[in-house]
Amino acid sequence: MAKGKSIEHIIDKSWCKGCGICVHFCPKQVLELNSDEKAVAARPEDCIGCKLCELRCPDLAIQIIVKEGE
Ligand code: SF4
Ligand code: SF4
Repeated sequence: MAKGKSIEHIIDKSWCKGCGICVHFCPKQVLELNSDEKAVAARPEDCIGCKLCELRCPDLAIQIIVKEGE
């Protein structure tokens, strides 16, 4: 993650159906499915904010919020 940038992963667990598409498409292996088959940001510090997960999720369960630093 670039300095001064913070990225928030908002994953709506009631909308996530555990298809794993976001896990598959993330180029930085940030996301994983937990034991309940819900997507979680396991390595949020590696996220580059590309939003591929948000764009690919068929259930609109992921929202990526990129906050630029000063
Ligand atoms: S793509 Fe969406 S529905 Fe599929 S595992 Fe990821 S968050 Fe859940
Ligand atoms: S924004 Fe990009 S790098 Fe970050 S979790 Fe989603 S797919 Fe992975």
